Amino acid sequence: MKINHVEIFDIHCPERTAWNPVFVRIHTDEGVTGVGEAGLAYDLGHSAAANMIKEFSEAFLIGFDPFQTENLWSRMLRESFWGLGGGPVVYAAMSAIDTALWDIKGKALGLPVYQLLGGKVNQKLRTYASQLQFDWDKEFKALKAPDEYAEAALKALADGYDAVKVDPIMYDKDGNTYFDRTKIISKAEMKLYHSRMAAIRHAVGDEVDIIFECHSLPGATTAIQLGEIAEEYGCMYYEEPVNYLNPSLHSKVADKVNVPIAGGERLYNRWQVRPYLEEQSVDVLQPDIGLCGGFTETKKVCDYADIFDVRIQAHVCGGPVSTAASLHLETAIPNFLIHEHHTYAIKQWNRELCIQDPQPKNGFFEVSEAPGIGIELNDEVVMKSPRIVVR
Ligand code: MG
Repeated sequence: MKINHVEIFDIHCPERTAWNPVFVRIHTDEGVTGVGEAGLAYDLGHSAAANMIKEFSEAFLIGFDPFQTENLWSRMLRESFWGLGGGPVVYAAMSAIDTALWDIKGKALGLPVYQLLGGKVNQKLRTYASQLQFDWDKEFKALKAPDEYAEAALKALADGYDAVKVDPIMYDKDGNTYFDRTKIISKAEMKLYHSRMAAIRHAVGDEVDIIFECHSLPGATTAIQLGEIAEEYGCMYYEEPVNYLNPSLHSKVADKVNVPIAGGERLYNRWQVRPYLEEQSVDVLQPDIGLCGGFTETKKVCDYADIFDVRIQAHVCGGPVSTAASLHLETAIPNFLIHEHHTYAIKQWNRELCIQDPQPKNGFFEVSEAPGIGIELNDEVVMKSPRIVVR
C-alpha cells in the first residue's frame, strides 16, 4: 500500500471566527483513506499548520507505505530540521499526519485503533463539561456574573456530567478578556473569582468535581494567590497555573498549592514533558494528540508519565476528529483519568464537520468500534473551506 495523494482542509467557520480546525485526509493506491487533525483549531496558527502538513506531505508522504509510522515519525523529527526544536506548528502537522496513518492501518486491518494500541483497558470514559465560562449551551456566551456560572454548571449536570471545568479569571466583571495575570491580583478581583467559584460549588453541591483552569495566564506569584480559591472550593485539579517557558515555575506552585496540578497541552513530545515528570510538578498530564505527535508519540508520553504515577487527561479542543482520536488513546491507557468535552464540541458548527458526531451519554464516552478511528469528514461542509491537495 502506498500513499498517492493528500488533502488538507483549513476550516473556516462563518458562525465562529477564530475557530479553524485543520484536517488532513490521506489517500492510498488501495482506496483506503485516513483522517487526522492538527491541534491548532483556536486562536492563531491554523494556516501555518495546514501549510506545514503540505510541506511534510511533499517531502515524505507521496509513495510512502502508511504502515511505517515509527519510521516516518523519526524522519519528521530529524529531517525537518525544526522537529528537533519542538513547537506547535511542526508538531501539529506531525500529529495530524500520524493520526491519519493509524486510521489507515486500522481500516486496512479491520480493527479500531485502540486494539492496535494494546486493547481496551477502559470500557467507559468518564467525561467532564469543559470551559463553562463560555456557557454550556447551543451558543457561545462570555459569562460575567456569578449566577451565570452557576446556571452553566447546572446545564452540564442536567446533561449527565458529574465533573465540570471553568476558568473563572478569563473575564473581568464587565466581560472583558485580559491576558496578563502576572501582576498581584487585587482584593476586588479575588472577590469576583471567589464569588464565581462559590456560585458553582453552591449550585452543584459537594459531590461534583470542579476543575480550575487558568490557561497559563498567571505568574507564579498570582498562581499561588489563586490557588487559595482552588483549595477553598475543593477543586479536583488546578490546570495550567503558569506557563511552560520556565519549568521551575510549576514546581514553585506545586510546592505551595495543595491541589493536584495539571498541564501539558503546550508540551509536544517526551523530551518536553521530562522536567515536569522528574520534578514531580504535575499530577495530571494533558497531552493533546493533535500536538503531541499523534498516536505514535502521545502513547509513549502517557507510558512515560505512568512511571511517575501521573494520570492522563488528553487535552481536547478541536473538531470531531480530535475527539475520536483521543477516545482511542484514552481507551487503551491504564493511567487514563477523565476525558475533556469542550463546550465547542457541543456546537452545531463543530458537530457538522464530520459524518459521525461523537458525544458522551450521561457523562460517559464509549469508543467507536468501527475500523480505524471511526470518523469521516463531512464533505458537504468541509469542501466549502480552503483545501490544499498534494499529489
Ligand atoms: Mg486547558
